[in-house]
Amino acid sequence: MLKKEARVITGGLSAPSKMPGPAYNLPAVACITGAKLVNVPGSVCHGCYALKGRYRFSNVRLALARRLESLKHPRWVDAMVTLIHGEPWFRWHDSGDLQSAWHLKQIFEVCNRTPETSHWLPTRERKFLPLSPDSIPKNLTIRFSSHMINQQPVTSWPWTSTVSSTTTTCKQVSSHKPQAPSSKRQAPSRKRQAP
Ligand code: SF4
Repeated sequence: MLKKEARVITGGLSAPSKMPGPAYNLPAVACITGAKLVNVPGSVCHGCYALKGRYRFSNVRLALARRLESLKHPRWVDAMVTLIHGEPWFRWHDSGDLQSAWHLKQIFEVCNRTPETSHWLPTRERKFLPLSPDSIPKNLTIRFSSHMINQQPVTSWPWTSTVSSTTTTCKQVSSHKPQAPSSKRQAPSRKRQAP
């Protein structure tokens, strides 16, 4: 598949500033848990940056809506593999979050078909994660984000991220997995970053 066709199918990748590689974003309004948390003061989603500023421009909103719709395209996996191939790092959902267990399964397939890429997926959707972290692709790190600012890391998943009012941390409790991003091409610390 040509990259041009892959971009048409998927809506294309995003290029968040301060990140070591490309990303893929979905509309924050479609976040399942996040849409509830935006109304909860003290939560990480309260005042979500992806619901403000340029994200409210009609062209950006349309592009995000197209990406959400594209998840159903029968060649979405092929197209994402085409776009990610050769990238050392890939961040899933610089805005937006997992939509379903099926959506995560599609992402697993993309990861399995891009073994040279280290994938990083933060999420608030524990219900869509597999019971055992051993079943996820070896080149994918899923970080389960605590919902509230200053909340301790969750214990139900080995890779976590938290937001404090002073610092942001990622924690790997125990794992065979690489940290994502690694110390070699370190992503910036994130303060109130989605999801
Ligand atoms: S912070 Fe992330 S999870 Fe929360 S609403 Fe915004 S995009 Fe969604």
